[in-house]
Amino acid sequence: MGRHVELKHMPLRVRNTLTRRKEILDAPTGAELRVFVCGPTVYDYVHLGHARTYLAFDTITRYLKFCGYRVRYLMNITDVAERVVQRAAELKKDPLELAHHYEAAFLDDMRALGVTEVDKFERASEAIPKMIVQVSALMNKGVAYETETGVYFEVGKFPKFGQLSGLSHEELSLRRLELCSSKRNPEDFSLWRKYDQGQAWDSPWGRGRPGWHIEDTAVSMGAFGDTYDIHGGASELIFPHHEAEIAQAESLTGKVPFVRYWLHTGLLSVSGRKMSKSLGNTIRIRDALKEYKPAELRFYFGTVHYREPMTYSHVGLNAARRRLSRLTHNLTLFLNAEPCQDPQTGKASATLASHEAAFRRFMNDDFNTPEALTVLEKFAGLLAKLGGKVDQGSKAMLEEGFRKMAGVLGILDGQVSIATREGGAVLP
Ligand SMILES: [Zn+2]
Repeated sequence: MGRHVELKHMPLRVRNTLTRRKEILDAPTGAELRVFVCGPTVYDYVHLGHARTYLAFDTITRYLKFCGYRVRYLMNITDVAERVVQRAAELKKDPLELAHHYEAAFLDDMRALGVTEVDKFERASEAIPKMIVQVSALMNKGVAYETETGVYFEVGKFPKFGQLSGLSHEELSLRRLELCSSKRNPEDFSLWRKYDQGQAWDSPWGRGRPGWHIEDTAVSMGAFGDTYDIHGGASELIFPHHEAEIAQAESLTGKVPFVRYWLHTGLLSVSGRKMSKSLGNTIRIRDALKEYKPAELRFYFGTVHYREPMTYSHVGLNAARRRLSRLTHNLTLFLNAEPCQDPQTGKASATLASHEAAFRRFMNDDFNTPEALTVLEKFAGLLAKLGGKVDQGSKAMLEEGFRKMAGVLGILDGQVSIATREGGAVLP
């Protein structure tokens, strides 16, 4: 027992992309954590690559709450973007109408996956005045300049550019962004692009559209202020998107760091290639959900640490399905067993405490869901054997404890709610 007490006190540590270290999440229990995650660009249906990221942050948020934090979770919706405008032109539709069609589909898919933790979704199109204020302020501070094509952030004026991605000055200069002859330097990025036709808003620089990076700082700072706690997203967004967000925000406020912890999810690939629309190898969430239950998909994504690259496979998904069905079978056996009369509350609470300590120990280690799943599988196996050997009160306590942990990972949603009177052997 002594060992478990000790483990309980291991604090939650998260790997911070900014410092490249695992750091203790420095916040007192009960504190409110402000979390922002980059939402989708809504020009098509979202796929399993998106699902992996949004499920990871859903689980992370659930675990933060499990630890006693309060969380304010904001996600932006990129409904103003080149890709939206292009797709709308191809389909001869209004860009915002198209975007909001796919936004509704995205929200449907998130609901279907059981992504429950986002408190607020905010559209870029509804934050344009905030973006104009930020771009004007960056110009006043002398870190942005106007040309005939738009307003650009002058990267050379922010010496820390590259700190998040770890790219050197030479590497940065090779990553030429947004080719445009009017820019002073190839690495400068747009804050505002001038367009006199098509989708455009009025601004001090004439009609046009905001740059992608300023959309997210306007949305997140509009809600959270100058600094906040956690910024999440897919690792492919580190450069240039999140690098640019830091440059904009810290240039605006002078407050460092803009965000305390940067968390990034690994890439999902299919047969060695990134799952992406441009490669034509995507699997839509809604199609995956025709074959697999949300809890099976959540279990599957939980089997790989959120930061690690992951290769999608049917074999892996079916293995996850079998593991989950074994777990629910064992839990059902436990729930169906007739409780015994003699109370063994002490033994039951020790069993729960030891499994909860192990669960916390793994989850406190940068949300190690693969190991946390293993703890729950073992716990379910033990519960199945314990079935008729615990009294009613202990049984209820064990069930509640199990459900709380399983609820963090989302692997029981909608399942095992009513115990059916089926028998069967305990599955190892
Ligand atoms: Zn973003």
